[in-house]
Amino acid sequence: MTKQILVAGGGIGGLAAALGLAQNGFNVCVLERASQFGEIGAGIQLGPNAFHAFDALGVGDAARRMAVYIEQLRLMDAVNGEEICHIPLDERFRTRFGNPYAVVHRGDLHGVLLQGCRDNARIELRTRSEVVSYEQDGSSVAAQLSDGERVVGSALVGADGLWSRVRQKVVGDGVPRVSGHTTYRSVIPTQRMPEELRWNAATLWAGPKCHVVHYPLSDWRVFNLVATFHSDAPEPVAGVPVSLEQVLDGFRHTHERVQDIIRHGSDWKMWVLCDRDPVLHWVDGRVTLLGDAAHPMLQYFAQGACMALEDAVCLAECAQARRDDLEHAFIDYNGRRVLRTTRLQLQSREIGQHIYHPAGAHAALRDAVLRSKSDEDWFETLQWLYGGPNQPYAFGH
Ligand SMILES: Cc1cc2nc3c(=O)[nH]c(=O)nc-3n(C[C@H](O)[C@H](O)[C@H](O)COP(=O)(O)OP(=O)(O)OC[C@H]3O[C@@H](n4cnc5c(N)ncnc54)[C@H](O)[C@@H]3O)c2cc1C
Repeated sequence: MTKQILVAGGGIGGLAAALGLAQNGFNVCVLERASQFGEIGAGIQLGPNAFHAFDALGVGDAARRMAVYIEQLRLMDAVNGEEICHIPLDERFRTRFGNPYAVVHRGDLHGVLLQGCRDNARIELRTRSEVVSYEQDGSSVAAQLSDGERVVGSALVGADGLWSRVRQKVVGDGVPRVSGHTTYRSVIPTQRMPEELRWNAATLWAGPKCHVVHYPLSDWRVFNLVATFHSDAPEPVAGVPVSLEQVLDGFRHTHERVQDIIRHGSDWKMWVLCDRDPVLHWVDGRVTLLGDAAHPMLQYFAQGACMALEDAVCLAECAQARRDDLEHAFIDYNGRRVLRTTRLQLQSREIGQHIYHPAGAHAALRDAVLRSKSDEDWFETLQWLYGGPNQPYAFGH
């Protein structure tokens, strides 16, 4: 009998990995810390590369049914209120990249993956199972749970997110890096969103040390709203409720339209964003990492979850190719993924600095460079990313 592969963490990455591995004939046991499977937060943007991964995981049709297909990625100046540029997501974009760009509710997306796992008899889903460490002996791995239980499998995939316990043993690089960027999240019922701003676009208002993102969600019932302020916050924070006044404090220097959008939000919650410096190796024998546990990045490319999905497909392919040698399968997987995800970790910081948050001459330079691009230039610029993991510029192989 095939011994099971253990997956620590049942987020988007862990469930996608379980699906991919099970489809290739492996038995999988997902160990999730929380008392139930779910996702925190509202919206998530998905590039065409995410849809390539959904198809490979067998959930493409279900994922497409959940999505709102936006028409543009639109960049606005948060100080003067004018458009800087936009990238069309029309038929030319879809034909070029083989799939659309879309936005979905996180809960809906997670639900699609969860249903796929529930429908697959090879996958066991466990909650209240917090992995705190592991041991291995050359032929098997035992995941140690916080209640003292040991769960044994042939391998372990740490998909346990930014604060991964599995990573502590595989890489041992301490706590994540605090970016100093504070993100506030809310949703606005569509009828409360100012009518002239109900655009079918992922809109980004870029201002000095701050930006705001909004897009329609859940069949246009709500707008997802994320406001980020480079506050030099020193400590990580996750999901703490804050007042509207506190959110507005980071945006007093922005155009009245931007402040007006923020005023329409309610039940604001705050995060202080973290990432990590990239590392070359994330394999320890029969143990590897995936998604944010392997390569956490700032959200500015909107690609963290997309990368976790691509990881899952690649991991399943590598495991399938070397069925009886998972140690080498994991080394192949690490090698195929690391440069693409490294590029995203580093460039996410860069676009935060040079596109999202500049002021004065720095912002004027941004405007001039971005305005000079034709639609075709944009498609060319994005080819390495949206064309999928096998693109020549993707450093995928
Ligand atoms: C504000 C914001 C906006 C974003 N927008 C986008 C976007 O538009 N597009 C995009 O692609 N990405 C986006 N991202 C990034 C994306 O959310 C993450 O990259 C993605 O959710 C990572 O998935 P994951 O499964 O690797 O980790 P997680 O989502 O963190 O899941 C980890 C899972 O492991 C569980 N867990 C944790 N510790 C343990 C343990 N010790 N044992 C067992 N289980 C454990 C957790 O409960 C959780 O279920 C955004 C991120 C932020 C912060």
